[in-house]
Amino acid sequence: MGIEEFRKNAKDMVDWICDYYASNEKLPVRSEVEPGYLRPLLPKAAPQHPENFGSIMQDVQSKIMPGITHWQSPNFFAYFPSNSSFPAMLGDMLSTALSTVGFCWIGSPATTELETIVMDWLGKLLCLPTSFLAFDEQGKRGLGGGVIQGSASESTLVSVLAARARVAPEHASKLVAYSSDQSHSSIKKACMVAGIPYVRIIPASAEDDYALDPAALREAIEEDLRNEDLIPFYVCATIGTTSSCAVDPIAEIGRITRHYNLWLHVDAAYAGVTSMLPEYRHYFNGLELVDSFITNGHKWLLTNFDCSCMWVQNAEPLKTALSLTPAYLRAKGNSLDYKDWQVPLGRRFRALKLWFVMRSYGTDNIKKFLRHHVQLGQLFVSLIQTDARLEIMAPPRWGLICFAIRGPNNDATNEATAELLERINKSGRAFLVHTELSGRFVARMAIGGSLTQERHVRATWQLISECTTEVLAARAK
Ligand code: PLP
Repeated sequence: MGIEEFRKNAKDMVDWICDYYASNEKLPVRSEVEPGYLRPLLPKAAPQHPENFGSIMQDVQSKIMPGITHWQSPNFFAYFPSNSSFPAMLGDMLSTALSTVGFCWIGSPATTELETIVMDWLGKLLCLPTSFLAFDEQGKRGLGGGVIQGSASESTLVSVLAARARVAPEHASKLVAYSSDQSHSSIKKACMVAGIPYVRIIPASAEDDYALDPAALREAIEEDLRNEDLIPFYVCATIGTTSSCAVDPIAEIGRITRHYNLWLHVDAAYAGVTSMLPEYRHYFNGLELVDSFITNGHKWLLTNFDCSCMWVQNAEPLKTALSLTPAYLRAKGNSLDYKDWQVPLGRRFRALKLWFVMRSYGTDNIKKFLRHHVQLGQLFVSLIQTDARLEIMAPPRWGLICFAIRGPNNDATNEATAELLERINKSGRAFLVHTELSGRFVARMAIGGSLTQERHVRATWQLISECTTEVLAARAK
C-alpha cells in the first residue's frame, strides 16, 4: 500500500469508525456466536496475492463484526468499563505511525520523557504524595516516578518482582504474600509467575463491607513470623475490588506493612482515578505508606487499552529486579530507561494517548466525566430500591452496583438471579456479568462507559424490571 492509497483508505477507515460510534448503541451488546464460528468463514491459509482494502473491510463487516462484543456500546455494563475516546484514538494512531520502541531513553528520547511528564501530571491530578512523582515542584529528580504498563496484571507482577528483589535471594523459597479473598486474581497470578511459594488469602466478610481486616492481616503476619520457614514480604491491598468495589483501609494496612517492613502494593485499577475527586480522597488516605500504586487509564480515564498507570516511591528495587543491559543496549547519557521498570524490553509510545486525553479534555471535564457516572450509579441504586423483588448486595460505590433477586441464600435464589442475567444478556439490549458474594450469585451493573448516558441506564433498568417479571413468572409455574 503506497502513501496515497493509505491516505484514502485511512480516511475511509475513519468514516467507518465514526459510523460505528454513531450507531453502536443499536447493536446487540454481547456477541452471540458459538465458539469456533470464524474458522469455517475464513480461508485456511493467508492469500498468496494481495487483496484490496475494500474486500478486507467487507469481511470485517460480515464475518468479524458478528463476533464482536461491543465494549464501547453505551449499554455495556459488564466487568469494568474499558473506556475509549477520540483524542486517545488519535494519540494511539500517532503512536502506531511513529512506531518507536522506547525501551531506553536514547532509543527515542521523547517517548521516555513524555511518559515521565504525563505520569507526573496524572500523579499530581490524583494528589499522590510527591514522593511518587519523578520531579518535585522545584524540578528536583526524586527516587520514584510513574510508568505506563500494559495491564494491571503486569503492574502487579512488577511490584511483586520489585518486592522480592528487596529480600536476600536465599530466602526466596520462604516468601509469603498477603491479600484478601476479594483481591483480583492477578495477584495470585503474579505470585505464580514470580515463583512466590506462599500466598495467604485472608477472607473478607460482608460485615466489613468486603474490605481486608487489618487485624486479621496482622495476625496472619505474626503467625507466619513465628514459623522459621516463612518470610512475609508483600501485601496487596485494593481500592475498588472487582467483585463489589470494596475498599481496603490503606492507612491501617500501611502502618502494619511499615512496621514489618513489607512491600505494600495498592491495586486501584478501576477506582484509582477518583482520587482526583475531593469527595473520594478519604479512600486514598495513607498512600504515603504505600510502595506501589496502580490505576488503569484504560478502565475509566477515557484512554483506550492499554494504559496501566503505575507509580513507585522508589524505583531502585524495580531496577534491581528488572535491569539487564547487554552490550548492544548500553548507551551513554541516558537518564531513564523504562526497560528497567517492566518485564518486556520493547514498549509502545503509550504516553501519547494519555497526553492527548489530558490536553483535549482538560482536568475539569475529566472530573465531570467521572462524577457523571457516579451520579448514574446513584440513579440506578434509586431505581433498584423502588423494586421490592430485588436487593442490593454490597454498598454501592462509584459506578458499580451489585444486586440480586431478593430471597434466602439458597440455590433457588441464585438460579433465579442467574436466569435474570442470562435473559438480560440474551436480549442484546445490555450486557452485565455476575460475581459471587458470601455464596450468593450476584449481578454487577458497572457504569462508566465513555458513551453511557442517563437514558441508557434508565432503559437498562426497564429491561431488568421486565426480565425480573418474566423470570419470576416462569419460576412460579
Ligand atoms: N485489578 C482489579 C481491581 C481489576 O478489576 C482488574 C480487572 O478488571 C485487574 C486488576 C486486572 O486488570 P488488567 O486487565 O489491566 O490486568
